[in-house]
Amino acid sequence: MNIHEYQGKEVLQQYGVSVPRGKVAFNVEEAVNAARELGSPVVVVKAQIHAGGRGKAGGVKIAKSLDEVRTYAEELFGKVLVTHQTGPEGKEIKRLLIEEGCDIKKEYYVGVVVDRGTGSVVLMASEEGGTEIEEVAAATPEKIFREVVDPAVGLQPFQARRLAYAINIPKELVNKAAKFMMALYSAFVDKDCSIAEINPLVVTGGGEVMALDAKLNFDSNSLFRHKDVLALRDLDEEDEKEIAASKFDLSYIALDGNIGCMVNGAGLAMATMDIIKYYGGEPANFLDVGGGATKEKVTEAFKIILSDPEVKGIFINIFGGIMRCDVIADGVVEAAKQVKLDKPLVVRLEGTNVDLGKKILNESGLNIVSADSMADGAQKIVELVR
Ligand code: ADP
Ligand code: MG
Repeated sequence: MNIHEYQGKEVLQQYGVSVPRGKVAFNVEEAVNAARELGSPVVVVKAQIHAGGRGKAGGVKIAKSLDEVRTYAEELFGKVLVTHQTGPEGKEIKRLLIEEGCDIKKEYYVGVVVDRGTGSVVLMASEEGGTEIEEVAAATPEKIFREVVDPAVGLQPFQARRLAYAINIPKELVNKAAKFMMALYSAFVDKDCSIAEINPLVVTGGGEVMALDAKLNFDSNSLFRHKDVLALRDLDEEDEKEIAASKFDLSYIALDGNIGCMVNGAGLAMATMDIIKYYGGEPANFLDVGGGATKEKVTEAFKIILSDPEVKGIFINIFGGIMRCDVIADGVVEAAKQVKLDKPLVVRLEGTNVDLGKKILNESGLNIVSADSMADGAQKIVELVR
């Protein structure tokens, strides 16, 4: 789960990471008032959307008076900002961060990530701050430094200092920078983050080390124990279908194709997408209905799949191991009737009571094509949506 920059900064501050003073605004008046309260000669007006690259796209404005704050706030609220991370459709700006302007001496990059290669948390840093780290990694990989953290002891102060030296933080500020990294790491571990990226981290004219941007990403499997983090969720920034799916405990990811998939188990769901592609089709989604595919869940899954206007047909591929195939078939028939399904539906069932399940499908009076195997089902649905 993602949160906004201003929320990330609030979280990080609790751990001792220093950030500029700032306040979120939901409308122009709030923006001007926030700037007045800050009282600093330079105020930065920053679009809050769940995507980076805002600076280059015109979503970060430097204002030198309250009038300028007003002008920028009027311009940004309601505007659809397109950055290289939003996709071509962009994201509408509904919140602004009004922040104290910072006297930047130099920009750096610091990020904490889970590195699957080493199976550890890794702290990464570079003196090429402000630009995308992917670009730095491609053009000058030698400018990215890493410290692998031993989970038993956590990030050690000497590692943080070594990293600060490696990225050429001015000597007199190395201790401050190391403290910053330690605090960032604590926040990452404590809040079960999957990414904590500060780009840029800056050294200021006044000799401060600060986070000017903050991108925190949380492991959604941990949210049950972080109610405070869950409260920061902004549904406006998420795919509607994915929100509906999460309410019913369905794992759903929207894709670009036209064959809706309903499958139980993540592995089978992946294999189903593969075989659809193998026979020349394009899956419209990944959908794992989980182990207990009840009638309610199947109905919701149908509704979510069908709310995608691109979907031309549905392929259900379910293995009835713990669930019996006749129960699943009943659920599919009920759900198809309830949503008045009028698109081709291919169902492949396998497992306990499979014959009874097929019988229920065949006698349902609905236009359901039953398949004998995964390959058979995939070929049939690809043919039907052609
Ligand atoms: P994004 O990564 O989405 O482009 P950032 O928050 O990193 O957004 O801002 C882009 C650039 O704007 C920063 O690299 C920095 O140069 C400048 N900037 C951001 N916040 C401030 C601030 N408070 N004071 C001065 N400059 C800022
Ligand atoms: Mg940034």
